[in-house]
Amino acid sequence: MEKLKAKIRDVNDFPSPGIVFKDITPLVQDPILLRECVAALIQPYKGKAITAVAGMEARGFIFGSLAAWELGVGFIPLRKPGKLPYDVQRIDYDLEYGSAALEAHIDAIKAGDKILVIDDVLATGGTARASCELIQNLGGEVVACAFVMELGFLHGRDVLAPYPIHTLISY
Ligand code: 5GP
Repeated sequence: MEKLKAKIRDVNDFPSPGIVFKDITPLVQDPILLRECVAALIQPYKGKAITAVAGMEARGFIFGSLAAWELGVGFIPLRKPGKLPYDVQRIDYDLEYGSAALEAHIDAIKAGDKILVIDDVLATGGTARASCELIQNLGGEVVACAFVMELGFLHGRDVLAPYPIHTLISY
């Protein structure tokens, strides 16, 4: 996975001063590494009873869609408020500074659906935790959450417990 790390770029002071943002665009521009990355993300779930992949806006759409394609299941977009056109279920959650919300279409998940949640980064865990709760509120079961990378120093794992977590690289 050192190959993956080599394609993740640190951008200082983005989106605000003092933040070092992990930029995954060099990784997704590399066709071979992108394929290896998605294969590793879904590896524990191949042959398992997954009915759909859910991905968070926006970079979760990239990895989540490819993972859904590889697993042969559909993709559920979890979007920022006001973006989905049909009736939605919403969840509000706290960020380190301020709050955020995610929405899903009310018919995106059926009772008992087994969902794999995918995003690029596990940071504080707030986004992933809210995503899992949104899925559960719609009747779905979260099988696991898979991330390309984990910012271990932010302890998102603790926030996401007890959902199973799979990450490819850790900082
Ligand atoms: P959390 O809610 O875990 O604090 O933040 C995770 C969310 O913020 C993910 O949707 C992720 O895309 C985004 N995010 C936070 N920090 C970074 C970062 O350094 N790089 C990238 N690519 N995304 C980040």
